[in-house]
Order: sequence, then C-alpha cells, then structure tokens
Amino acid sequence: MPTSPRGRGVRRLLWVLAPLGLALAMWQASQLARDQALEQLRQDAENELRLSAEGLVGHLSRHDYLPELLASREMVKRFLAAPDAQDAMPLNRLLDRFRATAGVSDIYLLDREGDTLAASNWHRPRTFIGQNYAFRRYYQEAISGRPGRFYGLGVQSRERGYYFSAPVWLEDTDPDATADGVMVVKVLLDTVEAGWAEQDAELLVIDGDDIIFMASRPELRMKALRPLSDASREALLATRRYADEPLAASGITFLDSREDVGQRIGFQHGPLADTEYLGLSRAMPAFGWRMQILTSLAPVTRAQWLAALLVGGLYGVVVLAGGIGWQRLRLRREREQFAERERRTLARARDELERNVQRRTRDLVETNERLSGEIEERRLAEERLRQTRDELIQAAKLAVLGQLAAGINHELNQPLAAIRAYAENASAFLERGRTEATRGNLAQIIELTDRMAEISAQLRQFSRKSGDRPTGVSVPACFDYALRLFQSRLRESGVAVERDWPEAETWVRADLVRLEQVLVNLIGNALQAMSQTPAPELRLIIEPGEERVRIRVVDNGPGIAAEHLGQIFEPFFTTKSPGNGLGLGLSISARIIDDLGGELTADRAPGGGARFTITLPPASGTDTTVEPRTKEHDTHA
Ligand code: ADP
Repeated sequence: MPTSPRGRGVRRLLWVLAPLGLALAMWQASQLARDQALEQLRQDAENELRLSAEGLVGHLSRHDYLPELLASREMVKRFLAAPDAQDAMPLNRLLDRFRATAGVSDIYLLDREGDTLAASNWHRPRTFIGQNYAFRRYYQEAISGRPGRFYGLGVQSRERGYYFSAPVWLEDTDPDATADGVMVVKVLLDTVEAGWAEQDAELLVIDGDDIIFMASRPELRMKALRPLSDASREALLATRRYADEPLAASGITFLDSREDVGQRIGFQHGPLADTEYLGLSRAMPAFGWRMQILTSLAPVTRAQWLAALLVGGLYGVVVLAGGIGWQRLRLRREREQFAERERRTLARARDELERNVQRRTRDLVETNERLSGEIEERRLAEERLRQTRDELIQAAKLAVLGQLAAGINHELNQPLAAIRAYAENASAFLERGRTEATRGNLAQIIELTDRMAEISAQLRQFSRKSGDRPTGVSVPACFDYALRLFQSRLRESGVAVERDWPEAETWVRADLVRLEQVLVNLIGNALQAMSQTPAPELRLIIEPGEERVRIRVVDNGPGIAAEHLGQIFEPFFTTKSPGNGLGLGLSISARIIDDLGGELTADRAPGGGARFTITLPPASGTDTTVEPRTKEHDTHA
C-alpha cells in the first residue's frame, strides 16, 4: 500500500527522534547512576576518612602523656641536676625501657641549651646523644614551660616523626622557675602509613604549609601539594622541618573545587595519572593538619557506562518492540482496509450483476412476450394462409371445374344430340318394320351413353379429396389419367402427344390426387398455349433418379415471355382474357409440389415453347403404394 505523505513525515520524524531519545535516555541514566555512585563513593570515602583521621589522632595522642610522666621522674631530675658527674647509662636504659614499653621510636633528654644528655638510642650508631636540638620548636616550647609538639624529618634518622616534649623542672615548687631540661618522645609515622596501604583509597596528610607529610603512596610523601615558589621553598628549608628534602610538586591537579561534595582530582604524572579521584578532606585541628582521601572515580564511570548501556539496551528493546507492534498494527490496518475494499468491490460487482440480470431478465421477458406475440401472429397468419390456400385450391378446383364443365358441356351436348337423332331414327325405322336399321341406331345410342358415363366419371374423380400422408405414386399412371381427361380436346385439336419415359414404372413420393391435379393443370395450360400452333406437340417426360425424379411437361407453343418468367407463379397472374383464366393454376401447383417436398420450375423448351419441370423425391420401399386408376375401373365405378 502506498504510504501517505503524512505517514512518511511521521516516519522521518521517528527516525530522527529515536536516536535522540536513545542519547537522552542514556545520558539521563548515566547522570543518575553517576550521582548515585558518586554519593555512595562519597559516603564511603567520608567514613574511611573519618576512621583514618581518628585512627591517626588516636595513635599520636596515645603518647601525649609520656614526656611529662618521664619529666617528673626523680631519676631524670637527679641526672639533669648534675649530668657531668653521673653515669648516663642507667638513664639511657630507663628511657629505652620506656620506649620499648610505650612502642615509640625514641625518647631523649635535652639540657637547658638543647643538647641531648641521654637517649633511648644510646647504643645506636646515630644516637642523638651529643646532638643539639635547640632549633626545634618542641625544645623551644618546652623550655619556655609548655608542653611542646612538633612534626618533622629527623635530623639524624631522616625519618618523619611526631615529637612530644615536656619541660623538666629540678625545682617544682617555684611557679616562675624556668625549665631545666626538656624530655622528648618521638613517634614514627611509618607504621600508621603501613596500615593505610591496605585500603583502596589513597590517604594524604597535608600540613599548614601544603606539604604532604604523610601519604599511603611513598612517592607522594614529602611533596608539595602545589608547586612551591623559590621563596617559599627557601623559607621552608630555613625551618629545617623537612631537613633538606627537595619538596617537589606532587603533580596533583584539582579538576574542580566543589569542596562540599568533594573535589575531582587528577595526577599529572606518576602511577595514579591514569584515573581521576574524588578528593575529600578533613581537618585535624589538634595537629594543624588536614587529612585528604582520594577515592578512584573509576567505579562511578563504570556505573555510568553500565547504566547507560542497560538503559540503551532497554530502550532498544522497547523501541524494537514498539516498532514491531506498530508494524503489526499497520499491517493489520492495511489488511482490514484491503478486505474492506475487496468487500466493497465485490458488493459493487454483485449489485452491477444483479442490475444486469434484472435488465436482461426484463429484456428477455419483453422479447419472450414479443416472440409469443409474433408466434401467435405467425400462427394466426399461417392459419389464415392455410385457410386462404385451401380456399384458393378450392377456387382453382372450381375454375378447372368450370373449364371442364365447359368442355363436358360440349362433350355431352354432342352425344345427347346424336342420341336424340339415333332414337328418332330408331323410332321411325321401328314403325316401318325395319328391325335391322333400328338395332343399328340403338347400338349407336348405347355407345354414346358409354362415352357420356366416362365423362361423368372424370368429373367425380376431380372432386375427390386428397389423402393426408404422401404415398408411393406411379408417375406414368398419373400422366395417363390426366391425358384421359383431355382426350376429346386432344383429338379435336390434333395435338401429337409424345410419352418420353422408361419402360419400368417410375414411382415418386407424393399424393396421387394432388399430383394428378398439378399435371392436369400443366397439360391444360399447354393445350391452351398451343391453340394457335400449326403442328401442336405435347411431350411428357419422366427422368428417374436416385435422389430426385424429374417430371416435365413440354409444348411447342409460343412459350413464356422472359419478362413474365418471374411472375407466372404469383397468384392471379394471367395473360389470358377474362373468362379464360384466373391466374391461380400455377401458383397452386407450385404450392402443392412444395408441400410434397419437391419443386416446380418453368423455362423455355430447347425447340421453343414452354417447359415445366416437377422435381420430387422417388418413392422408397416403405411408402405404401396407390393403385393406378384404370380406364375400366373408373368407367364402371
Ligand atoms: P391461367 O391459365 O388461368 O392464366 P395459370 O396460373 O395457369 O393461369 O397460368 C398463368 C400464365 O402463365 C398464363 O396466363 C400464361 O400466360 C402462362 N402460361 C402458363 N402455361 C403456359 C404455356 N404452356 N405456354 C405459355 N404460357 C403459359
């Protein structure tokens, strides 16, 4: 089905919107996942940071009391009162014992000038004994009567340490007395860092100078958080806190600075450079430090990708399902539309068909009625025709009868007159007693009555009715019968009759009376036509055949004018004067022959004159035959 322009527009829009929607959904999902993962990460990092910071504070604060405790020891005071006069060894041992018990790095005693008098590491090659620490803040704070704290790189050990110090007074009672010495406890920070190494996150401890003093990663230790200017480096070196460490830049970059939720942190170089970190910091006010935790943002990125891919996949499935659903819906709609169209077309075709059938039926009914009417008319016409024909035949018979009557009148008058004359003569001869002569006249009278009987028999014959069914009819017998009717006329007019037919009798399938009637008609016409002919000659021909038998009546009269040839079979066509002919003979004859399944034609005879030809089927073996009439039979009938 062709898609509508609107449908195409919608589809194009969908093609644009679907990827846009996908991108939006994936972006949204990744943002959500990012926020969630970040929040989780932040919480975890915060917890860890808090625990680590508290752990560090706890670790250091544990030793807070120790310098003061040792400073108050009699043995320490005693030794400090006269160091040169005493052996330091007992004190050294005491300090070492305390060191081992408290688990600190070093414990040592400074005199008023900051020189180390006794130390727990008296037995080590790099012992503090003899070293002067007057430059250290812990000495300065303690000598001025306050407990001191300090962190820094050990001058001897180059280890990072946290220092706790307390003043030692020889005389406790005078509140204004200056301190006589300083007791120092040094705690190493490496052990704390060792614990951090097990954690996932990186931990940094940054001091007030932005120097990373402690770090879970060794390479980050003693690095400047941000690159130092030369001036500030010089200043820091002067404090000797970091000994002569170069304090190189840590490489940390702050990618953004949302301190409330944490900073995004990266590394410019080093093993941590390949990922970004979430940085959270927590102040350690007791130490003037802040602890920073760096948690890798890789899980956040992973969660982001995972969520985006999941949502993308889900989106794909939904879009695919939607597409398939839509496609199926469209197909179903198209199928329904197609079926509806088909239904409408069928209904239209059916209506059209019905209309056509109705129209045809109407036409047929009309035609049928017309045909019935025509058939009825035809039947009536045929009936009228038959009636007319019968009437015509009857009329023709009457006409022939009239002719015959005229002839018969002539035929009978003569013998009647003769009979009268013979009778008068016989009567006269009887009176005179001339018996012989009387007998002779009576014999003449008998002969004449015979002739009269014959004429009357012929008349009776003519009025006979024809049979209904065709039968086998002998053609020569029919000719003989017709000739007998015209016997006297033939004799008077001196017409030569030639019978031209084979020896064997020829039979046709016809009606005896009707065929005789036709032959009488044809012969009568021929005789009439030859009335003025000097040597009249009538030829009667029979030509038998397998299919057809030809019966010809030929005369040598004037013949039929060419312009009349087409008309002579029409009823009432005649060239004869009124009283001599009705013009019905040939038309009736033609009709009779036609009814018998044959044909009647006319043309010119080869030697001039007219030739009429009757064609009829020969009689078959199944046809019943009719006895030909004999002269004797008719005469005595
Ligand atoms: P009718 O004899 O009463 O005129 P027919 O139908 O028998 O009527 O003949 C029609 C016409 O055919 C005749 O008037 C005549 O002109 C012509 N006709 C028929 N027979 C012959 C014939 N043997 N010779 C010449 N003309 C003929």
